Amino acid sequence: MYPDAHTELNFRTPLELLVATILSAQTTDKRVNMVTPILFSRYPSAADYAAADRDELEKIIQSTGFYHAKTNSLIGLGGALCERFGGEVPPRLRDLVTLPGVGRKTANVVLGNAFGIPGITVDTHFGRLARRFGWTTSDDPEKVEADVATLIPRRDWTMLSHRVIWHGRRVCHARRPACGACGLARLCPSYGEGPVDPVVAAKLVKPGPFS
Ligand code: SF4
Repeated sequence: MYPDAHTELNFRTPLELLVATILSAQTTDKRVNMVTPILFSRYPSAADYAAADRDELEKIIQSTGFYHAKTNSLIGLGGALCERFGGEVPPRLRDLVTLPGVGRKTANVVLGNAFGIPGITVDTHFGRLARRFGWTTSDDPEKVEADVATLIPRRDWTMLSHRVIWHGRRVCHARRPACGACGLARLCPSYGEGPVDPVVAAKLVKPGPFS
């Protein structure tokens, strides 16, 4: 259904993807993509974030929400990358999760999409759909990641994450999944959780793109 699924955040380097992913907390990729062109041109390196003027940085990212906390994360991130990793984004999960503002979800996004290292990205969509598919019963993202990792070959993890998230955004919504218009209906143990009438369901589908 989604042969060309990909991250909907715009980026050119691992640092840009790391920053964009931190900014994407509690907002849409579209909103992040609106602020990153100016952000990335103003702060091209980790050292630039480390030395950023807080007020200026806050103003640029304000529209993404939670901008005090996100500003703290970006300045701290720049400092940590310069102090411990020579200003470069490290390509290892256990290093990435030590950085300010970076949890397993963000780390897996960066590994999978900037470094080509397979990662399962358990965001709100992935967790919900994994439960609906019967892949896990857990609400804990780390447990969901571990459960899915036992079911799906490692080489498919990154693309699987994109495809599941795309389906969650477009069809299998949290409140009213569009079951009657869903290409997975015959396979899905949760078919019927949303409207099964094709006309009603078709109206619930959001075509995207979301970037
Ligand atoms: S059948 Fe319904 S619950 Fe299952 S994946 Fe499709 S929209 Fe989601």
